[in-house]
Amino acid sequence: MWSAGYALGASFENTLVISEDRVLNPEGLRFADEFVRHKVLDAVGDLALAGQPLLAAYRTVRGGHKLNHAVLSALMADPSAWRLVEAAEPARRMRGYADMGAGMMLPAYGPEVS
Ligand SMILES: [Zn+2]
Repeated sequence: MWSAGYALGASFENTLVISEDRVLNPEGLRFADEFVRHKVLDAVGDLALAGQPLLAAYRTVRGGHKLNHAVLSALMADPSAWRLVEAAEPARRMRGYADMGAGMMLPAYGPEVS
């Protein structure tokens, strides 16, 4: 990738390098479930683009940015699929919600919503 001009800021200190089916970093993975952690953080970041906290469950299989974007785009494209609800007072004080206002998006369907 470096020779092609990509990932020029990447190093073994800030990147996991995978070749075929093994990790090339001398110290290996930092956590046994590091790939899962990465996917979870990707999904949290992607779904934050909704602009409001999602009061929802999200499950994905072999997920990634493209799938997360497709799911969020489909949700946002159908206003009947969600509604904005007032956050309960304790949620407003939760860390990370301070600048989000009082609204939360509640999907109209999903495993916990019929
Ligand atoms: Zn990622």
